[in-house]
Amino acid sequence: MHERALRLIDLIISEALDEIRPSFDPLKGYEYCLRGECEGVGEALEYLYERGYLRKELHDRVASCPNCGSEIFLLRAKCPYCGSLNFSKGIVIEHLSCGYSGLEEEFMSPDGRRICPKCGKGLKAPGVDYIRVADIYRCASCKEVFSVPLYSYRCLNCGHEGPMIELIPKEVYKYLVVREALESDPISRKILDIVRKLADIGYRVEGPRARVKGRSGAEYDFTIAVWLEGSDEPIAVLDFVRGPIDDERLLSFFAKSLDVMAKERILVTQAKDSLMEAKASRLGIRVFELEDEDLVGKIGEVLLSLHVKGSET
Ligand SMILES: [Zn+2]
Ligand SMILES: [Zn+2]
Ligand SMILES: [Zn+2]
Repeated sequence: MHERALRLIDLIISEALDEIRPSFDPLKGYEYCLRGECEGVGEALEYLYERGYLRKELHDRVASCPNCGSEIFLLRAKCPYCGSLNFSKGIVIEHLSCGYSGLEEEFMSPDGRRICPKCGKGLKAPGVDYIRVADIYRCASCKEVFSVPLYSYRCLNCGHEGPMIELIPKEVYKYLVVREALESDPISRKILDIVRKLADIGYRVEGPRARVKGRSGAEYDFTIAVWLEGSDEPIAVLDFVRGPIDDERLLSFFAKSLDVMAKERILVTQAKDSLMEAKASRLGIRVFELEDEDLVGKIGEVLLSLHVKGSET
């Protein structure tokens, strides 16, 4: 997931994209594609949206299948009384002289002339003594007449069928790039840099917001969490702290990293102080400095040393 999101960020930056609009595929409905690739793009966009790199704007609102959410339908017209497809269009005529109105066929006499069934007079000319009032449908099955057929849908994705009122309105968004969040914030840049490099090495990495479930069942947010492929427990969790670390911050990080059983616990801070570092160290927490040129390298080393230890025991 995050890999796709990271590639998306690269693309947004390298191509200076300001927005990502959905495109409409007549076979699939709205979808998000970048450089001809569509798979996983929608999820990646949501991932970045949740983390503040994108914002959403309404692009369209469409009808969607109540069963599967698809937007592609075959619409059918039916008799609203009996549901039959077997109905035909007729014309309603009003005889102006006597005020009678009825279907055109009621005015047809066997010899082909038009005669009013109420007053028995012959009809002369349209607009003179009679007018065409409306188009109407007559059902061949139940003989009812109606002006609007009942439209029903058949979902072309899942096959679900029903009347159109069952369809559910669905919002379709376009995503707008939040430049400030993406580029000008040094912490965000650093976090993305670390996530990208660790992913390149082959770790499974989530960030800049990673949700991890602890033994207690509680879920915690970390700035970054790192897993070995195929393992549920993270090998490392990292929190980035703006400004100095206080006791409360230190202890809450300690508690949640313990619950998720992370082997390495790392705090990255903008302002390192040796007293806090000593306290952290007693809790088995490493403290790194955000400004450290070799921050990524140091984190990489810590992770690597875990493997080495792991393979020896
Ligand atoms: Zn469906
Ligand atoms: Zn009918
Ligand atoms: Zn008449």
